[in-house]
Amino acid sequence: MRNYSLNQRYIMSNKITIAIDGYSSSGKSTMARALAARIGYRYIDSGAMYRAVTLWAIRRGLTSADGSVDAGALVEHLPEIKIDFSLQPDGTAQHTMLCGEDVESEIRKINVSNYVSQVAAIPQVRHALVGMQQAMGKNKGIVMDGRDIGTTVFPDAELKIFVDASAQTRAQRRFSELVEKGSNVTFEEVLANVIHRDHIDQTREESPLRCADDALRLDNSHMTIEQQNAWLAEAFQSALEKTAK
Ligand code: C5P
Repeated sequence: MRNYSLNQRYIMSNKITIAIDGYSSSGKSTMARALAARIGYRYIDSGAMYRAVTLWAIRRGLTSADGSVDAGALVEHLPEIKIDFSLQPDGTAQHTMLCGEDVESEIRKINVSNYVSQVAAIPQVRHALVGMQQAMGKNKGIVMDGRDIGTTVFPDAELKIFVDASAQTRAQRRFSELVEKGSNVTFEEVLANVIHRDHIDQTREESPLRCADDALRLDNSHMTIEQQNAWLAEAFQSALEKTAK
């Protein structure tokens, strides 16, 4: 591995756009957040936006026990759903705000995970959120993670990464996180949810999850967080050098 240090002044005067996509619970948010903090870019978790819309739908009774979502009613109310991110006092963490309420922990719960891919497959929901995401990134200097960032939101991003790991590995990570937060889900429940979301995300008509042709692929099944961060920092450095040429 090359040894280099990131020169902050150079980085800030040559801002690029970084798109990180991948499967559910592939660890892309952890990597994306760490890189953004290191290089002083804004970090946006686009999945949190789909989760916030889903929470709104659940609270309004627009979801049914059979797993369906009342898309018509949700689309009608879309203009009322205000999503924002509030920077926490530590200066790096951001909390998702839904109509002014901090819903950061609520949106991570399994009941939201169970409906979010159905909500994210509704074309009007995608159009609204993609528009907001593009506005957030118009001045570059942003790291955004999701499913369609390199293909639809920022097709011209200078650095695109596609993260993958086995479904078992991803479910195990998600399960450990949920247990740590006090949730009493089973591993099987989490694995089923991960597989189900992957399926919906890959087969939906509107901007399905796929690796952009010009993305760098990373399988992090057997990597530590430190190794992933180092890999990403190096990919960033190379992208920066390429854009400077
Ligand atoms: O990233 P996270 O797992 O929190 O995202 C939740 C869900 O939101 C995904 O399973 C996917 O259905 C949807 N999503 C999406 N497009 C994005 C980000 C997330 O469809 N850019």
